[in-house]
Amino acid sequence: MTEFISNNFIPIIGILMMLAIIAKNNRLPKLRRIYFYLTLASFALSLFFRNADYITSNYETFTVRRAVYSAFGYVFRTLLIYFTLGTDLDLSKPKTRKIYILIGLPILVTIFAAFSVFFTDKVYSFVPPNSFFAGPYSWLNYVSLVFYLFVFIYIAAKDFIKYKNHRHGTMISAVLALMIFAMLFEKFGYRAFMCENAMTMALMLYLIFFQNNDFQHQRRSLEHKARIDALTGLYNRTGYNYLVEALSKEKDLMIGLLVLDIDNFKSINDTYGHETGDVILKKVADLLKVAFRSTDYVIRHGGDEFAVIMVGITDNLAFVVKNKIESLNVQLENPIDNVPKTSVSAGLAFSENGFTSDLFNRADKALYHVKETTRRDCALYEELPE
Ligand code: GH3
Ligand code: MG
Repeated sequence: MTEFISNNFIPIIGILMMLAIIAKNNRLPKLRRIYFYLTLASFALSLFFRNADYITSNYETFTVRRAVYSAFGYVFRTLLIYFTLGTDLDLSKPKTRKIYILIGLPILVTIFAAFSVFFTDKVYSFVPPNSFFAGPYSWLNYVSLVFYLFVFIYIAAKDFIKYKNHRHGTMISAVLALMIFAMLFEKFGYRAFMCENAMTMALMLYLIFFQNNDFQHQRRSLEHKARIDALTGLYNRTGYNYLVEALSKEKDLMIGLLVLDIDNFKSINDTYGHETGDVILKKVADLLKVAFRSTDYVIRHGGDEFAVIMVGITDNLAFVVKNKIESLNVQLENPIDNVPKTSVSAGLAFSENGFTSDLFNRADKALYHVKETTRRDCALYEELPE
């Protein structure tokens, strides 16, 4: 066991890193996921055939296995590069298909090099288990290796230009340092396959710590966009649900919920047209944003309905909120910008232990009461008549 670990420590660390990628990023795009599992499988196969060498010590099968191991090692590295490029390359374009074929070429070169031992009558009396595969063309492996190094530098440089981030430059330097270190290591007779694996590990490191972060950043900003209403820039219904979920976990937080609905909005749409309706929606949104604190959440709940979630507040806020709605209605009923006059009705409710399940219903009841009676006003649920 100790011998297995010491002979395979680099591939083992590699597999652990691959598992770290899965754990960190279980929602990879489909194409990347396919490459990922193929990469992992070929890596495992390469590891299997490598260790089969030690087990048999039979030089006939030994050579075949070593050749297979070597070939799988390159299949694995190629897949890893495909994985890195995954989402950027569109396979339907002929140009990108050429890039894929070019990157895949070292597989063929290596398979040729690996099996070239059968094209010669030279007898290999001894192949040390830790040395690189010894065939007449095995030097070709180094050509492949250098090729991959350049592909890797190309990927890092491309990302560097795309994301304008000096981390990628740092990464390129780190890889070069690792390669030089590995080559020196090999020169002094330790672990012949170290050099390649050092590059492979560097690629994985790059994926885990750098590229994945950028993808996650992109994903987060997309998710953020999906929670924003395009017309008003406020949180939309999805954003509201997200906030409610987060705030219902804060059991000792005092929360105020205000729900608003524009009065007779349908008739404004019918009389002045949908565009004018949209202008009013934007105006109400802007006035709400100004009226409430930056720590409050202003939401377009749907159609002409809005909501404001107030956090970290005190009891006597009902009076303040009612004043805010009053001044909002004064501004809506005395427009200075050629839009038709309008008004809003609002309902308010409080909770002392986070966003409870009945909070919305209470605020909505208060709103309904205003709609049924005066409109153009704000009612507090606790003050509704029996
Ligand atoms: P009430 O005073 O009872 O609220 O009456 P109302 O006319 O405002 O009725 P209601 O709130 O049910 O009507 C909402 C209207 O909002 C219906 C729909 O045509 C309009 N609406 C929903 N989304 C949009 C939008 O994005 N733009 C515009 N211009 N109108 C919208
Ligand atoms: Mg309405």
